Amino acid sequence: MNQYNDQIETKLIHRQISDGELKTGAVNVPIYLSSTFHQSSFDEFGPFDYSRSGNPTRQVLEQKIAELERGTKGFAFSSGMAAISSAFMLLSTGDHVLITEDVYGGTYRFITNILTKFGIEHTFVDMTDLNAIEQAIRPNTKVIYMETPSNPCLRITDIETVVKLSKANNCLTFLDNTFMTPFFQNPLELGVDVVLHSATKFLSGHSDILAGLAVTKDEELGERLGYIQNSFGAILGVQDSYQLIQGIKTLGIRLKQSSDSAQLIANYLNNHPFVEEVFYPGLPFHPGRDIHQKQARGFGAVLSFRLPNREAAKAFVEHVRIPVFAVSLGAVESILSYPTTMSHAAMPKEERERRGITDGLLRLSVGLEHVDDLIRDLDQALQKARRIHTPAF
Ligand SMILES: *Cc1c(COP(=O)(O)O)cnc(C)c1O
Repeated sequence: MNQYNDQIETKLIHRQISDGELKTGAVNVPIYLSSTFHQSSFDEFGPFDYSRSGNPTRQVLEQKIAELERGTKGFAFSSGMAAISSAFMLLSTGDHVLITEDVYGGTYRFITNILTKFGIEHTFVDMTDLNAIEQAIRPNTKVIYMETPSNPCLRITDIETVVKLSKANNCLTFLDNTFMTPFFQNPLELGVDVVLHSATKFLSGHSDILAGLAVTKDEELGERLGYIQNSFGAILGVQDSYQLIQGIKTLGIRLKQSSDSAQLIANYLNNHPFVEEVFYPGLPFHPGRDIHQKQARGFGAVLSFRLPNREAAKAFVEHVRIPVFAVSLGAVESILSYPTTMSHAAMPKEERERRGITDGLLRLSVGLEHVDDLIRDLDQALQKARRIHTPAF
């Protein structure tokens, strides 16, 4: 697609200038606020007819994500969930889906409460356990769904091995690449069929828009997904498409900086006596780290850590100053969240705790603040939480 062999940092910013821009030389893509397009011939229509089916601004974004993920066809949706739900519409009644048990909460909700209404079955499985996957594959299994590293404990799935298993059983693989982005991980290169993104997170990067993206390598599969995108209609609007294109331009430098800071923060937390456990693929003992290094080029900007209990987590959140306390991740500002009542609130307590999501667990998405300021802030909040938890201390 790019005959100059440019590195990803370069590709994030530049694009093939289309005919329209050649006329004005505009550096940025125009926002084509037009729902419909005049057809100059009675018999032959131009490249665009109606903006649900295609819009020049959205098309630049869709070509961009296809190029970055090294696929052939990209699709922009109104949210990550719109992209994920639309991809599942590739299935039919009677099909079965195999899903990682620590899948994103919204995907969990869609699979368990919506897909079931259409007679599509599912099984949750520990994707780090290849035997368990093999055992769970049925004759009607059509999709194996992965997320790696997963949320919030950053568990690692061996992408190539799962792809091999799925190909041997004639099913497709979907992978939610939100945490890594194409800057760090290219699942299509490892044989995955559909890559999905909540572009609300790192790709846009500024906690301002909701957006979803999907990419396929196989052209025929891409045609089918394009048909669904146009039929279901959950497309990304043009202003948000423009904003996402702008966000993607700085993805490389943002993710590099945030990941470097996340590594330093993980090291710091790992040495803190009040922190019971730290989950970050960049820590030498993190389970699956070797697999992650084989399939990705960085460890990412999200980490989780465990304090003794709910009271300790509460005291920590009440005393920390810099990160916002909120759901979501992948932004310029650091975002601290509490999975028990936020992302995993819908999950029964035993299910949650079995997945390591105890009442003391906090998740941090590291932003672009100076890492020394962040560590100093975490340090004072930990000290206060520790004093409240252990008054003698
Ligand atoms: C946020 C998120 C989603 C859902 O995306 P929305 O843009 O909120 O619809 C899906 N997967 C992961 C891993 C996410 O973090």
